Amino acid sequence: MRKINIFTNDTVLSKDTKKLLKRKLEKSDFIVPREFAPDAELVICIGGDGSFLETLHRFNFPDIPFIGINTGHLGFFQELHPDDLDEFIFRYKQGRYEIQHLKTVKGVVTASDGRHEYIGLNEILIKGEKSRAIHLNISIGDSFIERFSGDGILVSTPAGSTAYNYSLGGSIVDPRLNLLQVTPLAPMNTTAYRSFTSSIILPPDLSIRINPESSGEEGLLIVPDSMEHLHEGVEEIYLEFSPFIVKLLRFENYDFWSKVKSKFL
Ligand code: NAP
Ligand code: MN
Repeated sequence: MRKINIFTNDTVLSKDTKKLLKRKLEKSDFIVPREFAPDAELVICIGGDGSFLETLHRFNFPDIPFIGINTGHLGFFQELHPDDLDEFIFRYKQGRYEIQHLKTVKGVVTASDGRHEYIGLNEILIKGEKSRAIHLNISIGDSFIERFSGDGILVSTPAGSTAYNYSLGGSIVDPRLNLLQVTPLAPMNTTAYRSFTSSIILPPDLSIRINPESSGEEGLLIVPDSMEHLHEGVEEIYLEFSPFIVKLLRFENYDFWSKVKSKFL
């Protein structure tokens, strides 16, 4: 039997949509397990972009295609509306969809308590625990680039370019491109401190190495997709493309730039 996982956030609309969808899927001979089934063929995520990101992280970026039903606010990753359930099941059974492959970013943190690895679909952000400016030595590939001073550094994937990256003045990137974007948060640019004030765009084979100026003094927050992790005594943060690919179901009329227009303008 074909299994489909359904996850939902806590809103009434999401929970009602889940109940209805479960009934409809079972009528079409699918099984909807109570717990996460690793052998399911699809994960349906009901909520906003935040619930989709949370589900990905909770199940450690499983190699199963996802589709989102938007009951949240923006729903950039979400392909369907709660009214589309019958249409969705009809098209899904006929295989009338495409799978969009989204790259993720990996961050490896070396701190006083050891090594920690994080994955972000949108981004990984590095910022100070306190409100004071932080100072980070940044290298790209083997070259030292700058001593950054400001609030922090955000490393965005193409999929995340429309999220926090965009609010910081970063560029919107077509997700078919293979690149990482390094965007500063409130960079200082004075005679005392000199930092790049625009985003830097890197090819997929270059990694970014960040060495905090003074490890140990203050903690750093490592934030993949808005999930905060505090680390003390950070010596190094290494960022590069991760081997995890997120697969998103998209239907015939999906077009990235139409989505950008409908959500942003
Ligand atoms: P949130 O505070 O609800 O997110 C802020 C907004 O970003 C929401 O409207 C969310 O959509 C939207 N969003 C998430 N991923 C997106 C994407 N790839 N493209 C376009 N919009 C996107 O928190 P959340 O829902 O947990 O989302 C986490 C993300 O929020 C983080 O990965 C980060 O990129 C972003 N964020 C943005 C800011 C900022 O712009 N100043 C600050 C913090 C975090 P929904 O309404 O559908 O949830
Ligand atoms: Mn949200």
